Amino acid sequence: MEANTLIACHDCELVQKIPPVPLRGSARCLRCGALLYKRKPDCIEPTLALTLAGIVLFILINIFPFISFRMAGQMEETTLITGIKVFFDQGWWHVGLLVLLTTFIAPAIQLLGLLYILLPLRLGWMAPGLPRVLRIVQRTAPWSMIEIFMLGILVTVVKLTKDGDLTYGISVYAFMAFTFVIAAIITTFDPHQIWKKWDAARHISEKCHFNAGGVISCRTCHMLCGGLEISAKLKCPRCGAPLRRRKKFSISRTWALVLTAAIFYIPANLYPITNIISFGDEKTDTIMSGVIYFVQEGMWHLALIIFTASIMVPLLKLVLLSFLLISVQRKSTWRPKDRTRLYRVTEAIGRWSMVDIFAITVLIALVNLGQIATVQVEDAAIYFAAVVVITMFAALTFDPRLIWDTENNSHE
Ligand SMILES: [Zn+2]
Ligand SMILES: [Zn+2]
Repeated sequence: MEANTLIACHDCELVQKIPPVPLRGSARCLRCGALLYKRKPDCIEPTLALTLAGIVLFILINIFPFISFRMAGQMEETTLITGIKVFFDQGWWHVGLLVLLTTFIAPAIQLLGLLYILLPLRLGWMAPGLPRVLRIVQRTAPWSMIEIFMLGILVTVVKLTKDGDLTYGISVYAFMAFTFVIAAIITTFDPHQIWKKWDAARHISEKCHFNAGGVISCRTCHMLCGGLEISAKLKCPRCGAPLRRRKKFSISRTWALVLTAAIFYIPANLYPITNIISFGDEKTDTIMSGVIYFVQEGMWHLALIIFTASIMVPLLKLVLLSFLLISVQRKSTWRPKDRTRLYRVTEAIGRWSMVDIFAITVLIALVNLGQIATVQVEDAAIYFAAVVVITMFAALTFDPRLIWDTENNSHE
């Protein structure tokens, strides 16, 4: 994106010109403060190198041993997907599938998608179907949860050091490196640069005709499309994403998701989430009793992580989204900028609730020692996983531009 390009803010829809931005500088929305554009150095070569490194690490992670846990002379060796297999074995295929999607399938799609786009670009040509692939890469981004899985590993490892001996395989170190590589890919990759190259090759220009049909900004590639007849089947001429003035039935859909998640939040906290059977003794834990256990054992940092991620974050999301929905329905004009900020917070924090599910994934993989110690997953796991996924969808369905509609209308 170049200076003086027109862009509509993705959060408040104010149409504005991108000012000249120095390298590594960024431009924010004049009205709501959203990050509109960050000028990154040429991303093709560094992101391609990181993607290749990521693919190599991803293969290493999945073929080498992960962590082995020894307790009372018995040992269980695991690979990264052992936990997912145990979920399936114990009949919790839905939770297993969610972990598989977020730690395996989504990162794989990201890496392969980037390779598909960047390698041909590096060689001087365009991959066929580039817009569709780039769209998929951008859409799957929030569902790739490698850094959260890393935190889940840490929680379980710290928890278990007291009960037995842990041996770390090559896969653990590869996974640590992988977490950094993924973070570096996110920092270096700049979809704007790719769209610019695509436009240049296809002679697409970001022209606007403000007088006819109105202007719509594409939610995926941020192209500002003008002079278009607004219809239900309108698609972005550049990336092919459906173009809509507002997300479809945003308010009613978000309410439905928020209420469903609020109902599931109750059994998620009341029912036990794990059952540890050790030498014939059984000990069931709810999310809260797990937190209390960490406090009693002096592992207050783990208690804080699980309490924040599993209990506070989902509750906060439900409260904030309900507040935003009510304020939009009442056509409130109260501090739209702050309300937009609250929306950004709900969007950003939700994924981190998965840390408890990931900690359990590692736990059931490692503590699978038959008579000596076995961990069984209990009912709350499915309700809790549902709360995390549903609140993530709720944040995605809510349209922050609704916050600004009252303001826009009063100026017209
Ligand atoms: Zn804005
Ligand atoms: Zn688009």
